[in-house]
Amino acid sequence: MGNLLSLKDVQLYYDHVYALKGVSIDVNEGETVALIGANGAGKSSILRAITGLKGIRSGSIRYDGQSIDKAGPDVIVRMGISMVPEGRRVFPLMSVRDNLLMGAFTRTDKAEIRQSLEMVLARFPRLKERYTQAAGTMSGGEQQMLVIGRALMARPRLLLLDEPSLGIAPKLVQDIARSIVAINREDKVSVLLVEQNSRMALRISQRAYAIATGKVALSGNSAELLEDSRVKDLYLGGE
Ligand code: ATP
Repeated sequence: MGNLLSLKDVQLYYDHVYALKGVSIDVNEGETVALIGANGAGKSSILRAITGLKGIRSGSIRYDGQSIDKAGPDVIVRMGISMVPEGRRVFPLMSVRDNLLMGAFTRTDKAEIRQSLEMVLARFPRLKERYTQAAGTMSGGEQQMLVIGRALMARPRLLLLDEPSLGIAPKLVQDIARSIVAINREDKVSVLLVEQNSRMALRISQRAYAIATGKVALSGNSAELLEDSRVKDLYLGGE
């Protein structure tokens, strides 16, 4: 299992706010890796650094053997990294179909785009049911499925998900969790998942990092972390 993404000692600032204080994380080919931790710990900043939305102060980010820490967001998408940002921003007046097609903006081969569309609709049958409906009229969970589907339309090798379960009904959180597993295992997309729902994140990932005040506080095998007393106390509500 080769290395796909590697952050080494990454430091990131917003003006004088020292948000990432030397973060090193890896995602290997085929893995789902989770980033857990409290609000403001720096998880979203890690995703912004990877996608080129925010420049880093020092350290390195390598993807597929190449340095990407100076590449812009468009180049990074073309290299196969798609991000689903927090807050599920759909184009509300456009149909589900047209929202999905927006995700294929880097591609030109119509037959391949159609194939991806079919793959996404198989992953998210609810989107198929709502295919011609305006995206803004769907529930939060359905909109979350749509933004994940839209990110998949770029045909990524690495999918970055920022809080996909935030504000979503528990039943749909389960559906989304299952879809993430299928995207990883069946569609062979590696996943870096940021979640405050630590239990869900640890259940569906193979490895995880707990981020606290801009640093990796703990890391390891997700199944082991689920049983770790420090993780239980700090991230799983003491259960
Ligand atoms: P959340 O789940 O709330 O997004 P997070 O773990 O993803 O939390 P970040 O959003 O990465 O955390 O924020 C890390 C730190 O950087 C926080 O102290 C935050 O206040 C600060 N920060 C984030 N964005 C900015 C910004 N645009 N300007 C100034 N400070 C920022």
